[in-house]
Amino acid sequence: MSATISGIGISHGIAIGKVHRVDWGEVEVHEAAIPKELVEDEVARFHRAVRTARQQLKAIRNSIPENTTADIIDFIDTHLLMLEDTLLTAAPVELIRQRRCNAEWALKSQRDALAQVFDEMDDPYLRTRKDDVDHIVTRLQRILLGEGTHTDPQDDDQLRGAIVVAHDLTPAETVLLHHQGIAGFVTESGGPLSHTAILARSLGLPAIVGTHVTPQQIHDGDAVILDGARGILLTEYDDTTLKEYRRQQRQQQKRRSELKGLKDKPAVTLDGTRIHLLANVELHEDVLAARRAGAEGIGLYRSEFLFMNRSDIPGEEEQLQQYLSVVKTLKGLPITIRTLDLGSDKECGAEPPSEHISPNPALGLRAIRLCLKYADLFRPQLRAILRASAKGQVSMMIPMLSSAQELNEVLTLIEEVKEELHRERLAFDRNMPIGGMIEVPAAALSAGLFARKLDFLSIGTNDLIQYTLAIDRIDDEVTYLYDPLHPAVLRLIKMVIDAGQQHDVPVSMCGEMAGDPRYTRLLLGMGLNDFSVPPTSLLEVKNVIHKSLMTQLTPVVNDILNNDDPEKISELLVILNEM
Ligand code: PEP
Ligand code: MG
Repeated sequence: MSATISGIGISHGIAIGKVHRVDWGEVEVHEAAIPKELVEDEVARFHRAVRTARQQLKAIRNSIPENTTADIIDFIDTHLLMLEDTLLTAAPVELIRQRRCNAEWALKSQRDALAQVFDEMDDPYLRTRKDDVDHIVTRLQRILLGEGTHTDPQDDDQLRGAIVVAHDLTPAETVLLHHQGIAGFVTESGGPLSHTAILARSLGLPAIVGTHVTPQQIHDGDAVILDGARGILLTEYDDTTLKEYRRQQRQQQKRRSELKGLKDKPAVTLDGTRIHLLANVELHEDVLAARRAGAEGIGLYRSEFLFMNRSDIPGEEEQLQQYLSVVKTLKGLPITIRTLDLGSDKECGAEPPSEHISPNPALGLRAIRLCLKYADLFRPQLRAILRASAKGQVSMMIPMLSSAQELNEVLTLIEEVKEELHRERLAFDRNMPIGGMIEVPAAALSAGLFARKLDFLSIGTNDLIQYTLAIDRIDDEVTYLYDPLHPAVLRLIKMVIDAGQQHDVPVSMCGEMAGDPRYTRLLLGMGLNDFSVPPTSLLEVKNVIHKSLMTQLTPVVNDILNNDDPEKISELLVILNEM
């Protein structure tokens, strides 16, 4: 017998435990008429609830350990700020006075009015801000009704090892529940874009959202299995299933702790070749994950993530502050900030990039092409990156270069910006390394041209494969053709590595291929010494490096490169990985 509830797995891992149900749905409130002479008392009751909510949030903020990411604290600060917002504080007071209704009802009415405004918004990110309004309103209503919130400290014992099932969880509640030792959580609502989802991933909590479960389907104390990777919650299962999940869980834990032991060890092959292992990051919290995994720095900082999910464009100062905060978190480790790679699948909500509708976005105004067209967008970023270089080991990397003319244009623009900063007496590192991404076959075939003028190259295999094999990387229908082992792809990679060696320019790889341990030996044998990989795969790659003997790899890798039979290449790869 088995029963399963499905949802969106937003954070991988297996959790086995008892259900602890919290906070089902909205708080039930009813309208009550307030006599005229008691209206001001009701207003005072509302103000007291706002003060209590503020104290609760401040207490949560103070209980967060110091090493928690800045983003988590930001979430709570956002809620504190919302408690100052007239839409949530002054407007309900108006309603209490006008309608002579109870505070709970005034809050509900104001919440419904705001929800309608949010629902009409096109931007999915802004729509998720509706959740923040809900969280604040629910907190206030619970205080007014004299109910506790489910993150009260006395819940500690019940929560240790529990799988929390809730209608929704705020980011603040998620942090607290994590500190209270929960094993994972399942929420009825929510999506992968929400702050709570981002948090679950960075906290390593197995989690599923968007399950649309009803209270009848699940009870306090039910023994359940949460499979975050598959996005399922098993509510009924037999002994064999439980044993199998326990085995998988043990295996995952064993693997993680084995790998953790590698964190502070340098990435060196058995015969002493030193490899540099850096991390790719999109969000600030990934920087902490990168450090936890022992990354030697950030080899790809996808700066465009700063521009997404918002309706305005971050200016020079905002960008500078973001870069400086990452530099600070890195404590002296190097970072390569990639300039904006917007366009194609990465949309920015604001003008000007969204005004252009390309008939074929991946081949259109994307990345450096878009930046060169819109200097107003590009210059502030160049200035911010250069200014950040005064405070740390910062490099700049240009995506999607394809021609000498384009490269010259970028380099001239960077020189102009440097002169500008110099005139304004703003500090920057004149020798900040500038590199280019090799993502277009034309650039790989003429890599020498780029190597001569740049300080380093980085191979972006995600796009290099897309453009070499003419397959849209976001189109499901052609995913089956996406093949890092295609002889054309391997030869292009080898050409770039060789061009770098000829010109004495370091070559790294930051595409997903670099983070896939199945390809580590192949890339080592091709002469790649610098890898930039997602933090979650860094230790797996290091593990392979530690077990590799360069002298053994080279002949097999040469065989692979000289072969154009896909089956033979796959066979040789198996041999390579089993050596
Ligand atoms: C790549 O193309 O390999 C790369 C690292 O860039 P992105 O995935 O951001 O396009
Ligand atoms: Mg790319």
